[in-house]
Amino acid sequence: MRAPFNPWEMACQQLDLVAGKIDLDPGIHAKLRSCKRALIVSLPVQMDDGSIQVFEGYRVQHNLDRGPAKGGIRYHPDVTLDEVKAMAMWMTWKCAVVNIPYGGAKGGVICDPSDMSLKEVENLTRRLTSEISIIIGPEKDIPAPDVNTNPQVMSWIMDTYSMGVGYSAPGVVTGKPVEMGGSLGRHTATGRGAMLVLHEAMKRFKMEPAETRIAIQGFGKVGSSLAQYLDELGCPIVAVTDISGGLFNQKGIDIPALLEHTRAAPGGLIAGFAGGDFVEDVETANRQLLGLEVEVLAPCALENQITTENAHQVKARMVVEGANGPTTPEADEILQSNGVFVLPDILANAGGVTVSYFEWVQDLQSLFWDEDSIDRELTRIMTRGFHDVMEIAEREQCSMRLAAYMLAVNRVANAVRWRGVFP
Ligand code: NAD
Repeated sequence: MRAPFNPWEMACQQLDLVAGKIDLDPGIHAKLRSCKRALIVSLPVQMDDGSIQVFEGYRVQHNLDRGPAKGGIRYHPDVTLDEVKAMAMWMTWKCAVVNIPYGGAKGGVICDPSDMSLKEVENLTRRLTSEISIIIGPEKDIPAPDVNTNPQVMSWIMDTYSMGVGYSAPGVVTGKPVEMGGSLGRHTATGRGAMLVLHEAMKRFKMEPAETRIAIQGFGKVGSSLAQYLDELGCPIVAVTDISGGLFNQKGIDIPALLEHTRAAPGGLIAGFAGGDFVEDVETANRQLLGLEVEVLAPCALENQITTENAHQVKARMVVEGANGPTTPEADEILQSNGVFVLPDILANAGGVTVSYFEWVQDLQSLFWDEDSIDRELTRIMTRGFHDVMEIAEREQCSMRLAAYMLAVNRVANAVRWRGVFP
């Protein structure tokens, strides 16, 4: 029987691989192989029927050597401490790849928000904020949205934290609504960033948008905005899946119409959209999607999606990882030996944290940028990130993932060396 997937082991395996390649000092390697802080909180929440339900939540800070910690908060029934630790470590590398001055963090609560009322989610969020407020703050650790959390959840975090300190502290979270210190462009930034690095790769390999067929797994914040930007670029999006099933249309899905449909549909789901063949069973739909004859496969849902069981079936020329950790290290080797060009998560989905960084800077300065400035700066940072990584991959004759890790781990290790070990 196969051992259950453990994202933390996977994250350590990825670090070990790069440590050997860059001859990382064993002491620094050991430091980076552990998380600086992990807070486990118990959250009693008053439910609508008057009962009290107790949820478990986590906030983990992996590394603070390059700046305050930064990372999203996930609400999902499958959240584990090891998953949160892995995502915190990936955040450290992500911020370092695109060279923004943060360390990595992540948070999560084991819950199923689709089974909870808005008021219950608010109660849960406020209690979580209160419990983790001892380690978060604008100069300490700045949460953001992740799976099943959104601008409303960020607003409750900001409000609860502000009540505690006695003044408005917009810089404590990013991904807020624009009306209360959010940044223009944040909601779609991860998808836009993924489109920008993919577009650079397409130019590099002389791929014309009209001939670049795309399949996207996940149609949430990341998947839907990536679809929107690639559609605007002229790429046919031929398949999309979400938890309600999969939509397939070889001629290209009408993305603006699908976006309109999901905006109105309960839970924002793609089910019920008429513009293509619909497969109701999610597993079947995902299997079909992963094996499609397309140029680009974009996993934008959850981790552990491309595994040794299905990596051989991937026919796409490129994989752009909108999600965190969608490809296991073993599957990665299979993709590499089959010549699939992988734009790794720590580069491909760094657009979100980049615009979160802009939001935080704007909040601290109380000076807000227009959308053109955001787009211009995001384009500059993502394009630079792509070319920095590509240059290492070509020089070292290695995958984009290994190159991105080499760049990131070296940057963090240098900061550790400069700072030294306290005391
Ligand atoms: P989201 O909750 O907005 O969307 C998740 C989507 O995945 C939904 O459409 C859901 O239906 C779908 N999904 C879930 N399980 C699925 C399955 N088994 N098969 C197909 N689809 C499935 O979350 P999001 O913010 O878009 O995050 C998606 C991924 O991107 C996560 O790995 C997250 O960590 C990563 N990420 C998000 C951001 C961000 O800014 N939101 C930034 C970087 C990375």
